[in-house]
Amino acid sequence: QADERESMFLVSEFARDYFQDILLNNEQGKAIGLSYFKERGFTKETIKKFQLGYALNEWEAFTTEALNKGYNLKYLEATGLTIVKQDLLSSTGTKQFDRFKGRVLFPIHSMSGRVLGFGGRILTNDKKAAKYLNSPESEIYHKSNILYGINFAKQTIAKEDNCYLVEGYTDVISFHQSGIENVVSSSGTALTENQIRLINRLTKNITILFDGDAAGIRASIRGIDLILEQGMNVKVLTFPDGEDPDSFAKKVSKEELKNYLTTNAKDFINFKVSLLMEDAQQDPVKKAGLIRDIVISISKIPDRIQREVYIQECSRIMDISETVLFSELAQLDKKER
Ligand code: ATP
Ligand code: MN
Ligand code: MN
Ligand code: MN
Repeated sequence: QADERESMFLVSEFARDYFQDILLNNEQGKAIGLSYFKERGFTKETIKKFQLGYALNEWEAFTTEALNKGYNLKYLEATGLTIVKQDLLSSTGTKQFDRFKGRVLFPIHSMSGRVLGFGGRILTNDKKAAKYLNSPESEIYHKSNILYGINFAKQTIAKEDNCYLVEGYTDVISFHQSGIENVVSSSGTALTENQIRLINRLTKNITILFDGDAAGIRASIRGIDLILEQGMNVKVLTFPDGEDPDSFAKKVSKEELKNYLTTNAKDFINFKVSLLMEDAQQDPVKKAGLIRDIVISISKIPDRIQREVYIQECSRIMDISETVLFSELAQLDKKER
């Protein structure tokens, strides 16, 4: 079992080195992959730090190379790097091809920097193909337990006592290039309890920085309650519609970015208020709904004192008595049990 996992790590790390070599030294790799990353504004230094790569647009260039180097097809298949399918026409009864062909690659690391898998971004505008393709679930790649960038961020997260949480690979990389290193990505928007637990080992403070679109806002709202449930503190920072942390970081200077992050982060109550208040101000029913929504989030907080502090804040902002809020909270606690 342990041997199997080690074999999967070794083939993944061979793949990382191979794909990076293609990106930096192969003609197709340079013309397509490297120029793509450069157009996105990533420096050579950044590309090397994040071990970015490119998979040739050929059916089995990588698999052939790995087999020639003595790696076992069993582990190429187990990691999903090679896809093996039945093929009655072939002499072996199967055919095999490279999962990531024609994509630029983002190696995904464990806390200690081992390669768990890859995210591969398509370079064409093919609307039918998925923009990002990831390694499949395996003995070493469990999507719900992984935070992209954690190995590069762990020290700075502990030092700053705060973790920025973004959606995408490129958001993490752009922030590093802009000098902000305490950042990890949930790789998509469905944040999980285990991902939050990983952060909890390093800091109690998370700032959510999801994309400035409807999906990003929905994911932030969901994330808030998951984070509060673990007794952690959460802030939320939104970007102008259509921007994500990567695109925003590219538009402003390092100083402007730092400033934006420190001045615009809202605690979860103010975030919810800023989302819904415009509607709620005129409409008592909507205002009641907003207050109830905030109290539900407060009910997730395990610590009594913290709860009280947030109840006070909610009371002040929403201009409603603490007594009513506490009795609503008591009702929710009863339902929980
Ligand atoms: P880019 O800037 O390269 O277009 P992004 O990181 O801004 O990409 P989003 O569409 O905002 O991409 O998605 C955020 C993250 O969600 C991606 O970085 C990736 O980890 C994950 N993701 C997006 N689309 C898919 C997909 N089709 N399958 C799996 N994961 C995906
Ligand atoms: Mn998005
Ligand atoms: Mn995005
Ligand atoms: Mn983006």
